[in-house]
Amino acid sequence: MPREYSLQNTRNIGIMAHIDAGKTTTTERILYYSGVNHKIGETHDGASTMDWMAQEQERGITITSAATTCHWKKQDGTGEECRINIIDTPGHVDFTVEVERSLRVLDGAVTVLDAKAGVEPQTETVWRQATTYGVPRIVFVNKMDATGADFIMSCNTIIDRLGAKSCPIQLPIGAENTFEGLVDIIERKAYTFSGDYGRIVTEIPVPDDLKEMMEDYRMKLLEYLADYDEDFMMQVLEGEEPSIADIKRVLRVAVCKGDFFPVLCGSAYKNKGVQMVLDAVVDYLPSPVDVPSIKGTTLDGEEEFRHPSDDEPFSALAFKIATDPYVGKLSFFRVYSGTAEAGSYVLNSTKDKRERFGRIVQMHANARREIDQVYAGDIAAAVGLKVTTTGDTLCDEKNPIILESMEFPEPVIEMSLEPKTKADQDKMGLALSKLAEEDPTFKTYTNEETGQTIIAGVGELHLDIIVDRLRREFKVEANIGKPQVAYRETIRKAAECEGKYIRQSGGRGQYGHVWIKFEPNEGKGFEFVDAVVGGSVPREYIKPTQE
Ligand code: GDP
Repeated sequence: MPREYSLQNTRNIGIMAHIDAGKTTTTERILYYSGVNHKIGETHDGASTMDWMAQEQERGITITSAATTCHWKKQDGTGEECRINIIDTPGHVDFTVEVERSLRVLDGAVTVLDAKAGVEPQTETVWRQATTYGVPRIVFVNKMDATGADFIMSCNTIIDRLGAKSCPIQLPIGAENTFEGLVDIIERKAYTFSGDYGRIVTEIPVPDDLKEMMEDYRMKLLEYLADYDEDFMMQVLEGEEPSIADIKRVLRVAVCKGDFFPVLCGSAYKNKGVQMVLDAVVDYLPSPVDVPSIKGTTLDGEEEFRHPSDDEPFSALAFKIATDPYVGKLSFFRVYSGTAEAGSYVLNSTKDKRERFGRIVQMHANARREIDQVYAGDIAAAVGLKVTTTGDTLCDEKNPIILESMEFPEPVIEMSLEPKTKADQDKMGLALSKLAEEDPTFKTYTNEETGQTIIAGVGELHLDIIVDRLRREFKVEANIGKPQVAYRETIRKAAECEGKYIRQSGGRGQYGHVWIKFEPNEGKGFEFVDAVVGGSVPREYIKPTQE
């Protein structure tokens, strides 16, 4: 089967937001407009498409990091379509590691802000992570229909709180309950939305009261863009009007550099503006060939790059192991170079084991499509991989390489788990090892003194979800102990860091920053002295004990 979409027409993107900003609603609308979903919110028994697990619906958060594929027509007159793979990035602070692993494999992102609040604390966390991974972004200021919505205030928080170079490329027409459409600053056009879920987009004259503001922001945009292209700068300096195609071309350069962040606005819930977000994804976010090639290490220890091309040897990174109710274990992976066929063998170079791609599937919202072959730049899921876990490299057996992967933080919270019955005891070990296989930040071990099973994770919510999954998916009932800070690992490091605060969590992000201080204790090793807590770890979990 030949490649359906060129690399240039592929976008691997994430949608990142503070919880409640409207990421799920925006994603649903994207899937609807791109023709995958036929009725909004009807998949999975009324739940949204991206939220797979019952717990997520109950808690109203998105935990899994599945990838969904959709298509969108380019607006450049070529009539070509882009394939957009949306990698779900969870919104809750305890799952920052999930955000991090999805950031590793995507090329660009849409940051969703709530127009009532602008940049919120968690936006700052994910924004910083995205900057660390060099992920280019566009910003969508959602909820323009809500009471208190303020687009310009929201735009200013991007500059003030994130220190980012940014400029609106749209303006809202009205706000709160008078929000009715938007002005495209680049094209000097205005649009309203009507029909089922706002599918009908109608051009209207730019309202008189917005014309001056539109011109002001347009000038500002051109001045920003002048930094990215010399000819463009000359045009702007000489007062010439650059063509719309030129503005879009230079804006693409600026965004792909990860240096400039255009801002759009709308209301996903009221079905206004999401189509333009898709246009902007296609127009401005990078394709796999617009981002730096991935680095890896060959078995001789040589550094080597793998370029996004079908002619290079196959290399891919597994970024998520999930259990699908219909097909069982799914290993999501991103192909960086080369191609691979369903049924073929690849090398898991991280574990030095051969793996067979049984079937390869792509998720289209509620449907799975089986595919014969994957190409450079693709995101897909394999059925039948046995040993692969998150972060592993899969590659051509004859050209082994280990790709630069992701860092996982050490657990910060632990608690004991007592199976209620003998039957629970029997099932628990297997269940825990299965969960640990899916989640590299979840650890489990036996306390040698008490014989208790201990589970450890990156936050309290993380462990709550593990216990909940034990109950639901594995039918294991267990009594749980009080959560405590997991500083076992830290104690081992204490000798090197005597008298200093040691950061407990190994990763970046705001969750579970715990600094623990130890001092020598008269020939009896080291003694716990103090702990300072940040992120989501409540202080009362710190129990000063001696080791
Ligand atoms: P997520 O946590 O970022 O995935 O946010 P959701 O998409 O679940 O939205 C959170 C809440 O905000 C839900 O009650 C939505 O109905 C609501 N919401 C989402 N988008 C909009 C919008 O554009 N306008 C208004 N007024 N509410 C919205």
